[in-house]
Amino acid sequence: MASPCSSPTTDSPRARFLVVTLGCAKNEVDSDRMRALLIADGMAEVDDPAEADVAIVNTCSFLASATEESVSATLELAEEAADGVRELPIIMCGCVPSRYGDSLPQELPEVAAFVRAEDEDGIAEVVSQVLDLGEAPARPLPGEVLRTIDGASAFVKISEGCDRFCAFCAIPYIRGRYHSRPAADIVAEVGALMEGGVREVVLIGQDTGIWGHDLAEPRTLASLLRQVAEVVRPYGGWLRVLYLQPEGMTDELIATIRDVPEVLPYIDVPIQHCSERVLASMGRSGSEDQLRELFARLRREIPGMVLRTTGMCGFPGETDEEADELYDFVAEEEFDYCSVFAYSQEEGTRAAQMEQVDEQAKLERTQRLQDLAEELGFTATAKHVGERVRVIVDGVEEGEDGPELIGHAWFQAPDSDGAVHIVEGEAAVGDVVTVDLVDSFCYELVGELVEDGEVA
Ligand code: SF4
Repeated sequence: MASPCSSPTTDSPRARFLVVTLGCAKNEVDSDRMRALLIADGMAEVDDPAEADVAIVNTCSFLASATEESVSATLELAEEAADGVRELPIIMCGCVPSRYGDSLPQELPEVAAFVRAEDEDGIAEVVSQVLDLGEAPARPLPGEVLRTIDGASAFVKISEGCDRFCAFCAIPYIRGRYHSRPAADIVAEVGALMEGGVREVVLIGQDTGIWGHDLAEPRTLASLLRQVAEVVRPYGGWLRVLYLQPEGMTDELIATIRDVPEVLPYIDVPIQHCSERVLASMGRSGSEDQLRELFARLRREIPGMVLRTTGMCGFPGETDEEADELYDFVAEEEFDYCSVFAYSQEEGTRAAQMEQVDEQAKLERTQRLQDLAEELGFTATAKHVGERVRVIVDGVEEGEDGPELIGHAWFQAPDSDGAVHIVEGEAAVGDVVTVDLVDSFCYELVGELVEDGEVA
């Protein structure tokens, strides 16, 4: 699909660029914006390093392991380029330069330029300088829609940064303080995406529930969801919102998710832990009772909703009993999806200075909770067998009996949860089709396409 705002220049591009994106959906959105800026500046994207004039590596530094992966990916590209006949300058962008900016030029001489996340709107200028292309391209205008579109689902950022400073997390140091993106920009982007063929928008940010509180005229997330729903409605589209911190689940928001059909009843509340003592030590609020009350209220108000969470094992000071508390809580709440992470000691965070949990105990707790999450997830997935659902077709994969269509239903967030494998019927990537779910395995569902089928 073409970009809503610019046409790729393929005849004689000013330069050919390769983009490698590491990390989360927020980085995917940032890469997409850089891609659109470079295309608007007359450059063309390629997939093969051998064809590229420049490589852009958009990095993740959320965890030490993600930083290592980002640096390895960069060095691998540099090595590959050194083996080839053509020179391939590498531009490192995103979280690693934001976190370690000043020390990087000495440590990574293989890299031609570093661009912090907050400076990525200047990517075309940096590429021009690195490749010595002459005149500097114009920077985007405030509010200008810059997206390329590939498929029928798109992530849309509604905020940047975070004010919570959880003791274990480096994000506020990397991405800065919280600021909401203006509603007009979000709505314009969603409109352009829908016009370009997108049928699902996934609203993301580090802390989506507090969106709007810092605007000149404060707004609530619920009001934004209603506004975005108006935009997607004429296209038969839907929207979901991820990363709702427990405190953000207001009555107004719950009522909006319940009452506005375009807003999917897919609730993603990362709890990290349930023990009041551990939460307080993490710098987070709440207690097990409060969380239980929240999830009971959600189940009461939004019957049939899907619930996703995130749990962390081995935070400094976590005892065996507290690890058991979290395990029992996850088991009893029966989350549909639960991502489990082992605590990682991150340089510069408060928790890095605390007394650490024994590594072996941390790994055992993590594995035990991951096993439980998997068991719950497989059971929750199997419960959808027998349903007739709308599925967004994401692509084609090689199945056991040849190529099969892959898509996802309302209860599967793209890139996070399982998929629907459509083993019978034909459709194009980007179509929204009706599917009977006939079988499941692990987090995956098997479906058959229904021509002109109505979804109950
Ligand atoms: S809410 Fe906590 S864990 Fe999430 S980005 Fe902010 S500081 Fe990090």
